[in-house]
Amino acid sequence: MTADIVVIGSGPGGAVTATLCAEAGKSVLLVEEGQNLSLQSAPPFSKEELLLKYRNAGICIAVGPSKIAYVEGRCVGGGSEINRGLYHRAPEYLLDQWRAVFKVDDLSLDRLIPHFIACESTARIEYLHGDAPLISTRLRDGAARLGWQATEAPRLYRYGGEEKSGRKQSMSETFVPRFLAAGGRLIADTRANRLTRSGGKWHVKALHTPANGPPRPIEISADQIFVACGAVQTPALLRRSGLTRNIGNSLYFHPMLKVVAQFDEDVNNPGDLDPVHQIREFEPSFGMGCSISKRPMLGLAMVNHANHFAEIDRHWRRMGIYYVQAASGKATVRNLPFFRDPLVRVWQNGADLRKLADGLKRLAEALFSAGAVAVYPSVQGYPVLRSMEDVRNLPATFSGSDGSVTSVHVFSSCPMGGNEAICATDSFGRVRDADGLYIADASLLCGPTVVNPQGTVMAIAHRNATHAVESRFN
Ligand SMILES: Cc1cc2nc3c(=O)[nH]c(=O)nc-3n(C[C@H](O)[C@H](O)[C@H](O)COP(=O)(O)OP(=O)(O)OC[C@H]3O[C@@H](n4cnc5c(N)ncnc54)[C@H](O)[C@@H]3O)c2cc1C
Repeated sequence: MTADIVVIGSGPGGAVTATLCAEAGKSVLLVEEGQNLSLQSAPPFSKEELLLKYRNAGICIAVGPSKIAYVEGRCVGGGSEINRGLYHRAPEYLLDQWRAVFKVDDLSLDRLIPHFIACESTARIEYLHGDAPLISTRLRDGAARLGWQATEAPRLYRYGGEEKSGRKQSMSETFVPRFLAAGGRLIADTRANRLTRSGGKWHVKALHTPANGPPRPIEISADQIFVACGAVQTPALLRRSGLTRNIGNSLYFHPMLKVVAQFDEDVNNPGDLDPVHQIREFEPSFGMGCSISKRPMLGLAMVNHANHFAEIDRHWRRMGIYYVQAASGKATVRNLPFFRDPLVRVWQNGADLRKLADGLKRLAEALFSAGAVAVYPSVQGYPVLRSMEDVRNLPATFSGSDGSVTSVHVFSSCPMGGNEAICATDSFGRVRDADGLYIADASLLCGPTVVNPQGTVMAIAHRNATHAVESRFN
């Protein structure tokens, strides 16, 4: 197969990039390892969704002295299909820091705002129409009683319309249809295994695995390639292809700890809208929020309190899941012979772990202020907390080795910028010393975003694709 441009990976970074290139009149092939499924093909946050749309059915582990269990999307649309769409623009101080340390040219909030707006006009951002669910407002009210700032996070969502709960603005609902309308071609069920260069072209060696036929190797040739496989798989693909300079050395997570809070009245009613409030008082150290709290998820979050499972049977409607999320946990990505997935090794230092432990205490404080009667931390060996006094007695740190730390946000494994000592690409995503090869996903971000990252991934992809179309392709 041939194309002017191949984009590998159809998550927010890849879908935005492919759309802009196709609309610029290029012949573009968007290659995706996972299946091409509609947003409705599995109920949100269900076992079916885990099996169909997550890599390894949701089981990926970064190993090290403290472990992080993380998840990645693996379907057309990538993480945008399975996430909650909580949305923020990157904070200004962060972009200023990236410009100063990584020497990213022409990066500031002012310069990025047109790209945020352009993405937001295709994938709409909205606040809830009507009242927030009680799981959400309890967190807001608890924070307010402590004098902390808590706000509703807007979402990549279109509320109203025919569906009572609204409709998520995932890539398969927004940028992918726009890409196809511009004449782009999408090939799903196809994993890129290696990139090579010869005869002035890039070649992608891939394996096409259709649902109803045998696997078939294919090769695609193109003038330009954008790699957008996500922050773990992008460095893995580039390293398999012999490209290693500053690639896969600086992956970061937003490590997360969860708790279940039990209240003295119902807060968790079937049919409620998703919870949306976040406490931002302690950023950039850590942020807090509420999670989807369906009954099976309560079971999972209570796994370290198995002798209290009967409470879920009796009182699950009084229970909600909450999280604290920090910005830390540096990791490397390396391939291992004979293994399909790369080895991710993570190091969380003492300060990282203390930050999470402190965040856990603050979260429990907010929940008791909101009227919780019990808080169950999802940490092995931790007791059920019944009062502020119990919160004060929690240890100042923890080991993180029991698998209690999880993450859904990964970035910065191949940072962009002019600082050649630490950056994998130039300031606009072109891989150093590799003409016509670009990175276009969360790998490019120079560090953790502190806030939910998808908005920043899309805006940076939009910025860099605009730059490529205007200055590099002619
Ligand atoms: C459960 C969950 C909840 C989240 N919640 C939020 C939230 O509320 N708000 C927010 O802002 N962010 C959230 N995120 C994070 C957000 O989804 C990611 O930041 C975003 O999807 C990253 O985009 P990306 O383009 O870098 O990569 P991805 O979305 O990971 O897309 C990469 C794509 O590349 C494909 N791919 C990988 N390797 C290959 C290969 N070799 N060949 C072909 N294709 C390949 C993958 O299958 C995948 O579809 C969440 C993520 C998850 C998983």
